[in-house]
Amino acid sequence: MKARIVTLPGDGVGPEVTAAAVAVLEAVATHYGHEFAFDEHLIGGAAIDATGEPLPAGALQACKASDAVLLGAVGGPKWSDPNAKVRPEQGLLALRAGLGVYANLRPLTVHPALATLSPLKDEKLKDVDVLFVRELTGGAYFGAKTRGADYATDECRYTEAEVERVARRAFELARARRRHVTSVDKANVLETSRLWRRTVAHVAADYPDVTLEHQLVDSMAMLLLTRPGSYDVVVTENLFGDILTDEAAALAGSLGLLPSASIGEGRTGLYEPIHGSAPDIAGKGVANPVGAILSTALLLRHSLQLEAEALAVEAAVDHVLQHGPRSRDLGGHAGTADVRDAVLAALADRA
Ligand code: ATP
Ligand code: MG
Repeated sequence: MKARIVTLPGDGVGPEVTAAAVAVLEAVATHYGHEFAFDEHLIGGAAIDATGEPLPAGALQACKASDAVLLGAVGGPKWSDPNAKVRPEQGLLALRAGLGVYANLRPLTVHPALATLSPLKDEKLKDVDVLFVRELTGGAYFGAKTRGADYATDECRYTEAEVERVARRAFELARARRRHVTSVDKANVLETSRLWRRTVAHVAADYPDVTLEHQLVDSMAMLLLTRPGSYDVVVTENLFGDILTDEAAALAGSLGLLPSASIGEGRTGLYEPIHGSAPDIAGKGVANPVGAILSTALLLRHSLQLEAEALAVEAAVDHVLQHGPRSRDLGGHAGTADVRDAVLAALADRA
């Protein structure tokens, strides 16, 4: 198949891990007979330096016209003045809003070979295979904000339609997995959570083959540590999702390992590793590219519907995590390029 993929390397380690991810997509194209056209644009601090804007209009235009967007990371100390008029993160928010990607997907698995890096013990980590679906465009992050002399407010607002569309995504995704959805809210206290719970339960009626369970966010924070193996798809609102997915990331052993996908109504999805720009290791060639490489598997799966190719990339990464080489965050000495080359070799073996 033919596909147009926009790359937004961004800041810090973003360009390093994105280059590795592009190499993997190029190898997939070669091995499986596809034609991927890459188009690189600026975002974040790099875009501010070059154009004054965190997401130049041309970049957003190109993203909207593409099949998928592969993002590195944005931000860094150079642009972190809180009083600055333009900040790198604004580019990311504008991109999400411009693409209308309302569901953020974060798969979590713990590779057996890396279990020692996790704060949890082996037996707890067995069978951990969770897909978080975080609502990305509503709630307190986007509600009206006010600040008085001695108070501040953040309005948390959700409409039924906003809850319904992300809940539907979660149930659809559960159908392709173990058919279990855990919906997380704070319905004993928050009105938005009562709307959330009622709407999710309503959507569940259309999916009689999927089991729905409700959890309060405080108990979910605990359950993720005490029995992470018992969850399949976990769907929740923006703020709760932000917190729970960072907690979950810690279980995997390193931030550098985990991918994410943001999808919406349109065909274009946004794919990025969950880690930030990692300024402390930027430019040294030591960043772990696995989170970015696994993001290409999500891209192949969710935007291009190339499931076999997605599985091949995941299997190649599994092989490298098992047999090495390992980057420094995983206790090894390998650089970004070493890990990339090992994944490329494992991919070639499987093609
Ligand atoms: P942001 O504010 O952009 O989300 P953050 O505060 O979450 O950033 P990161 O940039 O993700 O921080 O980095 C946190 C720590 O994890 C740093 O010490 C960084 O070096 C490390 N880290 C992040 N990504 C990687 C990676 N791909 N490989 C190795 N280490 C990483
Ligand atoms: Mg962060």
